[in-house]
Amino acid sequence: MAEVSKEDSEVVTKIKTEPESAVDLEARILQLCESIPDGINDAIIQNTMPQCDATQRVMAVNRLLSMGKLDLIKIGNKLLYKLKTADAASNQLKGSDHQEKQIYQLIDESKNMGIWMRDIRLKSGLPMSQVQKTLKVLESKKLIKAVNCVNAAKKKVYMLYDVEPDRSLTGGAWYSNQDFESEFVDILNQQCFKFLQQKLAQSREGDLEPTAKRNASYASSTEIWKFICELGISKVKLEVEDIETIMNTLIYDGKVEFTVVPNGDGSQLKIYRAVVSVVPTSGFVRTPCGVCPVFNDCYEDWDISPSNCQYMNDWLSF
Ligand code: SF4
Repeated sequence: MAEVSKEDSEVVTKIKTEPESAVDLEARILQLCESIPDGINDAIIQNTMPQCDATQRVMAVNRLLSMGKLDLIKIGNKLLYKLKTADAASNQLKGSDHQEKQIYQLIDESKNMGIWMRDIRLKSGLPMSQVQKTLKVLESKKLIKAVNCVNAAKKKVYMLYDVEPDRSLTGGAWYSNQDFESEFVDILNQQCFKFLQQKLAQSREGDLEPTAKRNASYASSTEIWKFICELGISKVKLEVEDIETIMNTLIYDGKVEFTVVPNGDGSQLKIYRAVVSVVPTSGFVRTPCGVCPVFNDCYEDWDISPSNCQYMNDWLSF
């Protein structure tokens, strides 16, 4: 068992509650960092939230580091996580001129949605050439970064270097540098289905009555999400909603069925099970639109349109 100092144990006990989701776990880690400003290590997280396994802890900490909410510092042989403070940015801005600080401030306010160069010019009142020059300087100092928007090829927004862009800009887990990761979606599709097939096979092995066997073959999206996370096949952080999107494609393919059951807190929980298909699935249900994040903005003759969609063209050629 990992060791925790007496002082830290008191703080830990105060905020010891069971995280219910990845977001909840991240919030608890931030709360813990606030309570122990000198920094926390994995042992403290483990003792505070013993119900979370190592994978969940690593994923939560990595996400907070990538969002720029935590700093990783080394003291002697120890690695500690500390809340990132505004001081770090102000240190980096030392020596910057007024324009750099002004533009940095505007970009900071835009959070994870970022801000267009055009809006920076309008809000700052600076000439475009000056804005461009300042943005280049801030980029070279790694204080800000430019992010291409998935739903508009030429649209670029600026945000702070450590901020993780909103999913609406990047397209979420299914896009990498504006390219649809069809191979990745296929692999996830196969693994989610495999998991449900295994559940189905295990439920049939047991000496259970038919209804219990059927119930044992179902899995919730959270169970499937945990399985996928443990496989470690994704370089990006997947949310339970991403798995539900994949499950929808499997349902359209006729490989999986779902039902809803009471969740215990008044809400309803969707659970899934593999079905043995009696006829081969139609390619029609495998269109890229099924997992397309800009599906709602896609219309004929619009900027995003099926007639100029590369993924649709590839799918039709296939
Ligand atoms: S046709 Fe439209 S909805 Fe379908 S994949 Fe292309 S952009 Fe997305």
